[in-house]
Amino acid sequence: MNIRICGGRVVDPSQRMDRISDLWIENGKIVRLLEASAASPSKANRKIDAKGKIVSPGFVDLHVHFRDPGQLEKEDLTTGTHAAAAGGFTSVLCMPNTSPVNDSAEVTRYIVQRAAEVGRCRVYPVGAITKGLLGKSLSPMRELKEAGCIAFSDDGRPVNDAALMREALTKSRELGTFLIEHCEELELSKSETVHEGEVARSLGLKGISRSVETVDATRTLTLAAETGARVHLAHLSCAESVSLIEEFKPKLSGLTAEVTPHHLALTVESVREKGTNAKMYPPLREDRDRTALGKALARGTIDVVATDHAPHTAAEKSKTFDKAPNGIIGSESALFILMDLVDNGILTIGDVIRSMSSRPAEIAGLNAGSLRPGSPADVVIFDPDEKRTFTESDIFSKSKNSPFVGTKGKGRVLLTMVAGRETFPGWE
Ligand SMILES: [Zn+2]
Repeated sequence: MNIRICGGRVVDPSQRMDRISDLWIENGKIVRLLEASAASPSKANRKIDAKGKIVSPGFVDLHVHFRDPGQLEKEDLTTGTHAAAAGGFTSVLCMPNTSPVNDSAEVTRYIVQRAAEVGRCRVYPVGAITKGLLGKSLSPMRELKEAGCIAFSDDGRPVNDAALMREALTKSRELGTFLIEHCEELELSKSETVHEGEVARSLGLKGISRSVETVDATRTLTLAAETGARVHLAHLSCAESVSLIEEFKPKLSGLTAEVTPHHLALTVESVREKGTNAKMYPPLREDRDRTALGKALARGTIDVVATDHAPHTAAEKSKTFDKAPNGIIGSESALFILMDLVDNGILTIGDVIRSMSSRPAEIAGLNAGSLRPGSPADVVIFDPDEKRTFTESDIFSKSKNSPFVGTKGKGRVLLTMVAGRETFPGWE
């Protein structure tokens, strides 16, 4: 099967490439760029017109919740990977807070096998750091790694016990893998998940401070520096966390961090209008935080954008603010939301693609995120300019809990492929 993608703007940060060219794909692999006038090396089975469009490495999401096994009313591996493909993602890391928790080789193997059968993208399980995510004792990390886990996290919760965290960091270093910490100091986060301040007060809520995040981040980075482990901080929400990363990066080469599209695009003000669809951990903060996160991403202090795609049913999200679960979906809207930051001059298109493809692939150690000859043909083609409104019909997830429904903006994923097979909009 030979594919020629014609006339697109090929943007590949892994090769510092940004040029108009054709791309030649053979048997699921990138072979090379071709001049428009050059003949195809052999017969093209498919020609794709990408004139005026961007052709980039498929996106890599380090943080999704596919709820499979166990909470299939919210999402499953079929719909979760469909949502990912619709967002241009070709590889995702799925968090272990399923039911049962991914703390055994059996659950890991189930996810790997099921995703291979029904998935529209590559799915890499993240194993639990502690058994049952209970924070009491370590999961069988070696066994999990052998079964297919490529990182460890108790995401949804921090590893509260510092001694256990230190042990987990040491273990993950020995295994040559990395830990993803959901930064939250539980003693500080006992009220509703909303940023403390004016908005919270006006809604009769107490809210939580920035220190909920930074206290745990500081502790985690201190332990990582001491053990020499690689650590990745999930979904950072505030300016103070950016300062921490800046302080620790010079002495901690294995430190990386992510930010979500919603923390880059929204502030706590959104809670007034969107209610529980603007409720997630960590909460949306203030404008100075949003600005600091955007700048940190542009200069690479924050390495990647990850969606923290977290489906919940309408029934759960229609509970009162204090009772509704944390989290919003994000796979389908990620690029669309980031294009607004490009429009506003905060990010370049290269920043967006780097932080969504080459850099996350590098962090997770995947053979992905690049259009170099010989790489798997994991590719996304998108229109950066199409003006549109994000609607429910753009959502393929089982859940619709997005604060972005009704948002006007630009950009649309036109075609996603994994190893040369179309995964969106069609599925070969
Ligand atoms: Zn989390």
